[in-house]
Amino acid sequence: MTPVTATEDRYRSRWTWDRVAWGTHCVNCLATCPYRVFVRDGQVAFEETGGALDAIETRVPDLNPLGCQKGSAWSLQLTSEDRVLHPLRRVGERGSGAWEEITWDEALTTIADALLEAIDLEGPESIVFEETVEGGLLTQAPFLRFAGLLGAVTLDANGLVNDFPTGHHITFGKFSCASTVDDTFHSDVVLCWHSNPAYTSIPYFHYVAEARYRGAQVIAIAPDYNATAVFADHYVPVKPGTDAALALAMCRVILDEDLADLEFLRAQTDLPLLVLVETGRFLRGNDVEAGDREDRFFHWDSQDGLRAAPRDTLDLGGRSPALEGRWTVTLHDGTEAEVTTVFALLRERLAGYTPEHAAEVCGASPETIRELARMVARRRTKILEGFNAPKYYHGDLMERSMCLLLALTGNWGKPGTGITGLALAGLDGFFLFPMKTRRGVDETARILDGIDGAIATIREQDTDASDEIIGNQLLAMSVVSGTSTPPAFFNYHHCGYRDSWNRAEWSDPAMTRSFDEYLNDAVQRGWWGGLTRPGKDVDPQVLFIVGTNPLRRSRGGRARLLDTLWPKLELVVAVDFRLSTTAMHADVVLPAAMQYERPNLQYAISHTFHVGFSDAAVEPPGEAKTEWEIFRLLARRVQELAIERDLTEYLDGRRQPRRLDGLEAAFTANGAWEREEDVLDEWVRDSAEVGTLPAGTSIETLRRDGSTRFTGLGIFAPGLSLATDVAPDRVLSAYTWHVERGVPFPTLTRRAQFYVDHPWFLEADEGLPRHKDPPKAGGDYPLALTSGHSRWTVHSIAMGNRVLLGTHRGQPLVVLGTGEAAARGVVDGQLVRVVNDLGEFRAMARVTGRVRPGQLIVYNGFEPHMFEGWQGANEVEPGMVKWLHLVSRYGHLRYLPFGWQPVPADRAVYVDVERVEQS
Ligand code: SF4
Repeated sequence: MTPVTATEDRYRSRWTWDRVAWGTHCVNCLATCPYRVFVRDGQVAFEETGGALDAIETRVPDLNPLGCQKGSAWSLQLTSEDRVLHPLRRVGERGSGAWEEITWDEALTTIADALLEAIDLEGPESIVFEETVEGGLLTQAPFLRFAGLLGAVTLDANGLVNDFPTGHHITFGKFSCASTVDDTFHSDVVLCWHSNPAYTSIPYFHYVAEARYRGAQVIAIAPDYNATAVFADHYVPVKPGTDAALALAMCRVILDEDLADLEFLRAQTDLPLLVLVETGRFLRGNDVEAGDREDRFFHWDSQDGLRAAPRDTLDLGGRSPALEGRWTVTLHDGTEAEVTTVFALLRERLAGYTPEHAAEVCGASPETIRELARMVARRRTKILEGFNAPKYYHGDLMERSMCLLLALTGNWGKPGTGITGLALAGLDGFFLFPMKTRRGVDETARILDGIDGAIATIREQDTDASDEIIGNQLLAMSVVSGTSTPPAFFNYHHCGYRDSWNRAEWSDPAMTRSFDEYLNDAVQRGWWGGLTRPGKDVDPQVLFIVGTNPLRRSRGGRARLLDTLWPKLELVVAVDFRLSTTAMHADVVLPAAMQYERPNLQYAISHTFHVGFSDAAVEPPGEAKTEWEIFRLLARRVQELAIERDLTEYLDGRRQPRRLDGLEAAFTANGAWEREEDVLDEWVRDSAEVGTLPAGTSIETLRRDGSTRFTGLGIFAPGLSLATDVAPDRVLSAYTWHVERGVPFPTLTRRAQFYVDHPWFLEADEGLPRHKDPPKAGGDYPLALTSGHSRWTVHSIAMGNRVLLGTHRGQPLVVLGTGEAAARGVVDGQLVRVVNDLGEFRAMARVTGRVRPGQLIVYNGFEPHMFEGWQGANEVEPGMVKWLHLVSRYGHLRYLPFGWQPVPADRAVYVDVERVEQS
């Protein structure tokens, strides 16, 4: 027998373990990859991809193995040097880095004291929480519950991170339209447009390659020759922010060459609806008949003339409404008016988008535009869109144009088609939870009865409403009493954005009034009634940051927030497992448990359509606690201090009474939710009860299996928005209900809506999609700064991972083209200064031939403290908000949590770059 050497022995013992648990990484990567987490001596020894998911559809590759390098190196972060192990209180200036360790009791007392002071002085709306999409549902749920009990404000997460695909929402009345990732395998044409899935969708990228193997054409459309373009059949380079011109020119080619699917667009879209020629408004029910609905719209039938478009179905019942023409209709007051169709207006709009003209705007050749248009028209096409377009000022116009391309070619609601964006799915138990006062299915049944009653009331008022439309109505009702509010108004009143937003030269030249005037007008009209919280007269007192990192992320920069918001705050609390840049500027830092150290569920997404469970494989280190425990203990301490100080009753900002003497019992529902395991168990049991998870799903089954596939869309709006049947042996293609069953869209017109007749949209000449150049945000400089998720981290979460740092240069990079570098005397590896009217930052130049002239890239995720002077890339981003997004109370253009709202942009900010001479 060969003797075992010490080296072999060490190697073998490295790969031994005592037990194995399931884990995933509840970060905002839009994946829920099941991992096996191997534990030895109470520590995570290593992890590997689970690879245990069942195949779904015959002849479609399965999802396995699902994983990426960040997840496979996750356990290194459990022992990272930036880990917070004890409660910390600053002892020096904010941000000075001087801390003292304090006990949990001291920390909770400090925070409870500040909360009571804030309530007493300014009211509970002066307590502000940043919502988060990081950390999983058991990071979010505790502080949402705590904030709700106090009457505090939570800033809508989508308004903070700007993943909200505005153009999808304008078009479809919803934004969660992503089929499962394996549906890509059915595509004949895959347009990677505003996305770089080779970087950002590593667990799913194999479907792009496999679709190509099956025969699909893969086309990468981007300003830079990105990592996805390497794997594509065609690369279409476009200038930053010009994608609408490209899409509209393709639409023009499709119409000119009679390639459009006219029956599809007649049924599915508003293109055949009638518009009053004189005013540009849709012809509406109450124009034709006094007292009729304002949200009834009309077609022109070649035989019967004027006919109301059905509200309850997209099925035209064999009719074929006219697409073009002009007709005269009699209005209810006896006058006559000329009408035409949206389609006719679209023809006029597209007259300006010849391929030759678009080529001058976007940079793609006319022949490329024609070939691409023909390809899309003739084959099943899917647009793999990421979260890049929404971050452009005119990203809505780009997305509306891309959706129009799909509409003209019949490309949604069928396997292998559609457009990806946000990918939410329904975990109904999570939505039921805030309504429950005790455990068990009896309580669930009581709540469901109440919901049924509310649904019946809504249906009485609108007998034509679909389940999805009713789901949105229910969500709208919850806004009135919920904590969530669009952050734009907070930014405007309290965070110093007002000056930037009023810079006309950084804004849309179509504005005829100042931003102030539009905003005040919108507020005075009541469009954002009850949502401008905390109001301008309430000084924010306490800011809670739970797992987010606004000083890294906020458009407008760390400096702006530190100069404007921070001085107003009596207390900044960060709950985190690491010292992020924001935690470094907090007053108190509470150490949180990480994934693998606590039970958790990732939020439900349609990409994999699996619920992902992460178990407590090991104990949290030091004194770290889970968020559930932290907020439960804080509720207890606030209650104790409130009783001591006789401050147990108050009115919140909505004049609703609040009590603090039973805060802990309210938080735990009289002990029903003492432990987070019980909360999690209730979510999954209730989800199984309403049919979104398999019958019998519980924390025990998840602990055994790691994950499970959803079995239904549920009863709430996020799930229903996918509008498709769920079958165990079929990949999920979104929007089949609209195409196969004629279920209406939840828009004002109940069709995919390309025409918005709101007066502000008409004023901006954006009634129909069009191209507009990105405004010169940041100043009149020659380079457009763009970004994208990096290959090495999910936001900043893995930026400090010691192994991942070794896979790149380990520091922030400014990626610029060889021509731009040569013109400025910049060589690779040199320190450069990026500057505009707002600010500047410095970083190492990475010079490459793959970035187009006029473009500069800084990938997302570098912490400001990795830059010189802690000045990150967001110091040059003004975070401009598009004024049209202040419109509300227009059909589907109204706030719902995570949905329609004004959000700061950060792409195509204009800058220049210069070399920094170093001695
Ligand atoms: Fe999957 Fe996200 Fe974990 Fe990577 S970080 S393995 S994509 S869950």
